[in-house]
Amino acid sequence: MLRLKNTLTRKLEEFKPLEGNTVRIYACGPTVYGNIHIGNFRTFVAVDVLQRYLKYRGYDVSYAMNITDVDDKIIRGLKESGKSLDEYTGFYTGQFMEDLERLNVEMPDVLPRATAHIPEMLALMERLDQHGRTYKSDGSLYYRIESFPEYGRLSGSKLEGNQSGARVDVDEYDKADARDFVLWKATKEEGEPSWGSPYGAGRPGWHLECSAMSMKYLGESFDIHCGGIDLIFPHHENEIAQSEGATGKRFVKTWFHVEFLLVEGEKMSKRKGNFYTLRDLVEKGYSPQAIRFLLLSVPYRTQLNFTFDELRARQSSLERLQNFKRRVEGARSEESGARGREVSEARSVQDAINSAKSAFEAGMDDDLNTSAALAGVFDLVRDINIAMDSGGLSENDKVATLEFLDSVDSVLGVLGNRPGENITAELEARVEELIKQRHAARRDRDFARADQIRDELAQQGVVLEDTAQGTRWKLKR
Ligand SMILES: [Zn+2]
Repeated sequence: MLRLKNTLTRKLEEFKPLEGNTVRIYACGPTVYGNIHIGNFRTFVAVDVLQRYLKYRGYDVSYAMNITDVDDKIIRGLKESGKSLDEYTGFYTGQFMEDLERLNVEMPDVLPRATAHIPEMLALMERLDQHGRTYKSDGSLYYRIESFPEYGRLSGSKLEGNQSGARVDVDEYDKADARDFVLWKATKEEGEPSWGSPYGAGRPGWHLECSAMSMKYLGESFDIHCGGIDLIFPHHENEIAQSEGATGKRFVKTWFHVEFLLVEGEKMSKRKGNFYTLRDLVEKGYSPQAIRFLLLSVPYRTQLNFTFDELRARQSSLERLQNFKRRVEGARSEESGARGREVSEARSVQDAINSAKSAFEAGMDDDLNTSAALAGVFDLVRDINIAMDSGGLSENDKVATLEFLDSVDSVLGVLGNRPGENITAELEARVEELIKQRHAARRDRDFARADQIRDELAQQGVVLEDTAQGTRWKLKR
């Protein structure tokens, strides 16, 4: 039985869908004003693992993720770019989709955009209005927090300092600034994106879109709402106030929040120069599969300290897994009907697979403890390698091992050969090693050796490019 930690109750709870066999999931998606960083991708990979594991467990999944295509940050970026709103956000939405695909994240069933759902948001505001939860001020519409006594339950905010009627207009703010928040923002400057409404020309506040779109696609009550922990307050708190304030029903059963990602022990920031997008890492020569593997290998409720040492370590453990799969595929089959080979005394390959499967499932059932689940898989790699060292595998054992790897990979998504991906992890490791040796040769002023390495790589179709940031490489087309 799958158990998930629920931010709302702060408890580990047995998971059961609200209705039938379908799990309805919503994840807060990206704000499309730039290439998003690996901290955000940690969240999207974690949600992907969640929805893949629910499918592994036999559930149907209905999954929606929004695209925020109008907010304070976008409007700032838009002014600088001189582009139209659609051009500007369309470009970054495309980049985001490409990144998801490279990370082998399965596409949500729907990816609604905020600006395509203004009527739904206006309808929701009208319902809030009817329940006396809103008030107008200077052409904007605000949510009256006082009207919703449950406010603060998710984040544990006491809101003692909150003054009735004090307002906040920005899309993001912290607990110290808890105030009545804006639902509809009056247009302030000429040329800002704006839509007509009964309150006057304006645009929706950020929080409103997620309530309106999640309820449209998943129903007024649904199973799991996901996001990074930075969204608990105010975003998710405000979503609850908006949805429950309008429907009077419980909005979400389980709140699933993914912890922060630190880079080399520090908070990521552009100023510190430790801010990485997926593209930055791929340019440095790391494979998206290894990046996905690192992002998912730390349980989602634990802080992940991203370091390049760790990325290289994960890359090589992923290679071990990939090489193992190739080795099993290529293993000589013993005569069919042969008794399964033993991995140790009185322990068959089938026993080893069974215990790896139990360990994998026990780990995943424990609030998606991917680290425990992976340990089970690597135990099997060790056991079967031992069996293969002493001969072949029976056809049955071979098939059973490959079936197990496939089922595990339906959740992990790191073993498949992706279309168009001709850079294997193996090649990558070899190239990285040769680049290191070439650096060493050049440092020792052994230029003949350095050139030899460059030629060797060229023969394998690898082109090197020396830049101020180090040596980059790519495959010759
Ligand atoms: Zn949201």
